[in-house]
Amino acid sequence: MKRVIILGCTGSIGSTALEAIRTKHLDLTVVGLSANSNAPQLVALAREFSSEAICLTGMAIESVSGLRTYSNFTGLEQMLHSLDADIVLNAISGFDGLRASLAALSCGFDLALANKESVVCAGSYLFEVAKEHNASIIPVDSEHSALAELLKGHDRKQVQSLIITASGGPFRTLDASRFAGITVEQALAHPTWNMGKKISIDSATLANKALEVIEASHLFGFDADHIEVVIHPQSIVHSMIRTFDGAVYAQLGNPDMTLPIINALCEGATSLVRPLDFTSLSLSFEQPDFKRFPLLGLAFEILRRKGSSALAFNAADEVAVHAFMQQRISYPKLIEVVLRTLDQRWDEEVSSFSQILALDAKARQIASSLL
Ligand code: NDP
Ligand code: MG
Repeated sequence: MKRVIILGCTGSIGSTALEAIRTKHLDLTVVGLSANSNAPQLVALAREFSSEAICLTGMAIESVSGLRTYSNFTGLEQMLHSLDADIVLNAISGFDGLRASLAALSCGFDLALANKESVVCAGSYLFEVAKEHNASIIPVDSEHSALAELLKGHDRKQVQSLIITASGGPFRTLDASRFAGITVEQALAHPTWNMGKKISIDSATLANKALEVIEASHLFGFDADHIEVVIHPQSIVHSMIRTFDGAVYAQLGNPDMTLPIINALCEGATSLVRPLDFTSLSLSFEQPDFKRFPLLGLAFEILRRKGSSALAFNAADEVAVHAFMQQRISYPKLIEVVLRTLDQRWDEEVSSFSQILALDAKARQIASSLL
């Protein structure tokens, strides 16, 4: 029985993971759980899964009989240190998830990583911490999970490029002249995936794909010239690799996070998801429109610039998405805030958590002043 801790258990990824553990009879015991503010659900889940400890990161939590309870991020670190576990699923959304990733790796736990912000903001530093503590980072993001599986079957020297698929989001075919009128509700309505709010807005601007390009570069060691993005509205092909002999290998499946989550948590599980009936499918592919979706192109520039541009991109995007969701800025302004924050130079290489925090705060301040 593998012992797992699920951070961000009340969200979209956390709920999908728990639903799979609940219904698929996996060899997993849920020993610890965290949420940010949803205390009633956190306690209910801990009771259902007979967990040992819980942490509420966003506020204080009253003690609960039969459970060790922790509050805030200091409490989260204490909880991780107190538990005997094999793997942590980090399904926290946003930059705050980085602290949790670093804490989990420092305990020597393997990290099933949905929180792509950890990789984007800490870059190689995250992998150094993992190496130092002999822990593995296993991607949960569907594209990266697919890439990891595809790369397993190939000698790295044979692989010319990674091809990341993108649905194109709800505005794939919308003329740019209508972008100013986009509402929060429209931006949240993702055509193929059902996800948390932040990642849904990011899918509408293609900032999510930008984060994923950066994530893939760090996870698999491919530079900007060896990563491609292709728009694939049906979200059935989760990603592909192109080999030097001219072939392309793809991983296909229904748009369902169950498989990537469980593949990261345990090996050899069977009959996890509804089989794909590919005979009833019609798959299409198109080039991304970098003009209408400039944040995607920015990701490739960020990879070429190096330094801490990726961290600044993430911080500016979090600030701008938050303001957009509060209806304080328009969709075009959201894009502009991110682009203009990146007009600054972000040359400093990242080598410690305190430095990451300082740079993140600086980028947030600049982005906020641009709102
Ligand atoms: P949700 O918004 O649905 O859930 C977020 C979870 O994290 C909730 O449990 C929430 O707790 C908790 N949380 C929110 N803010 C904080 C914080 N500041 N500190 C600690 N915990 C916090 O997000 P998703 O599940 O959609 O996404 C989670 C991560 O996975 C993101 O990084 C996303 O990019 C990535 N991802 C998601 C996919 C998806 O299909 N949803 C696909 C691929 C990657 P509470 O409920 O109490 O607020
Ligand atoms: Mg993804």
